[in-house]
Amino acid sequence: MYRDIQRQDQNIYQLLLQEEKRQQDSIRLIPSENYVSKAVREATGSCLTNKYSEGYPQKRYYEGQQITDQIETIAIERAKKLFGADHACVQPYSGSVANVAVYTAFAEPGDTIMGLALPFGGHLTHGWKVSVTGKFFNAVQYELDPDSDRLDYDAIEKMAIQHKPKVIVSGATAYSRIIDFERFGAIAKKVGAFHFCDMAHIAGLIAAGAHPNPVPYADVVSTTTHKSLRGPRGAMILCKEEHAKRVNKAVFPGMQGGPHMHTITAIAVALGEASTDSFKQYGRQVVKNAARLAQKLMEFGFDIVSGGTDNHLILMDLRSKGMLGKKLAKALDSAGIVTNYNTIPNDPAKPFNPSGIRIGTPAVTTRGMKEEQMDTIAELFNEVTANVEDENAIANAAEKVKQLCSQFPVPDSFVS
Ligand SMILES: *Cc1c(COP(=O)(O)O)cnc(C)c1O
Repeated sequence: MYRDIQRQDQNIYQLLLQEEKRQQDSIRLIPSENYVSKAVREATGSCLTNKYSEGYPQKRYYEGQQITDQIETIAIERAKKLFGADHACVQPYSGSVANVAVYTAFAEPGDTIMGLALPFGGHLTHGWKVSVTGKFFNAVQYELDPDSDRLDYDAIEKMAIQHKPKVIVSGATAYSRIIDFERFGAIAKKVGAFHFCDMAHIAGLIAAGAHPNPVPYADVVSTTTHKSLRGPRGAMILCKEEHAKRVNKAVFPGMQGGPHMHTITAIAVALGEASTDSFKQYGRQVVKNAARLAQKLMEFGFDIVSGGTDNHLILMDLRSKGMLGKKLAKALDSAGIVTNYNTIPNDPAKPFNPSGIRIGTPAVTTRGMKEEQMDTIAELFNEVTANVEDENAIANAAEKVKQLCSQFPVPDSFVS
């Protein structure tokens, strides 16, 4: 591996080897991360990185598009088929860029947009104030029901009636329950708003049939391709036929120049993988693993926000353990359990050192781990939490983590 880099750039070569090892030897619980297949990596490193293709298939601004047109068309057709969409744009560089493109397609600067507030699990690009989406638009933000820590659709409807937003965003980055996209669609319709669903985290579950699909109930849907969907870092926008032109125009020339054709090639490959039966099994196992992990953690006395999970993600409230998220996340990382600290709903602590930790099962499930290993992970998690100051205990846990990881190598291929 990396033979040519080895020959010409020792610094980067050594770092790549170390990162390969880190990814192999640690339990990756960051819910937005995954492992792609070798096929997806090959596509990402292919000669398509050398090509400029501004425009869309059959309507390019550069010559030499004999192959790119075919590849992009395959990616588009696979995306449409997998999610049942009329139209797909596979060019957005990443999820954030896709979202900004969506707002510019469906709203004017200064118009009102409405999304889930970041401290309650919304993404930065759902109108949070430090993001351009909160600066260039008049963003109003809904929160979760304080008792259940779940979406309160009646409250969202009330807010929509009051503020008459141009765009209502459904979807989240740290929310562990099924989202009722049909209801979001009905609310948007009632107030004359566009329903924009951002399914970045759960796209793989949706492709696998393990979470309801927003496509029938949304005017427009964005997703990253690198989270549970298990593709390269990139994004897509799906929409109804009537919005196809405005979406394409908002991405190019509105937001971007030349598309990253190597990424689009890898998206095509990943979408091919996501249409297989084995991917359906994968998506269902991700959900089963998360449910089991949450269950076990609760048995160890961990406080899980909303009392469990319906998807791939678990949000933990550490206040009952007398700890803040960052401290535990760092101790876990020393033991080879990689998580991220996160705000919890109504968090009394500061966002840079919040009260929660966010974990998820897409990556460990890709490595073939099942319920039994979730029990082991919960035990290790508990061990580290009980011994955050004890270097020996953490080193001991790290040994067990390595052992578990050695039994579940990162797979090369997902297609038999
Ligand atoms: C990850 C994520 C994004 C942003 O994707 P990037 O590729 O990191 O820009 C947008 N929305 C949601 C809901 C996400 O989870």
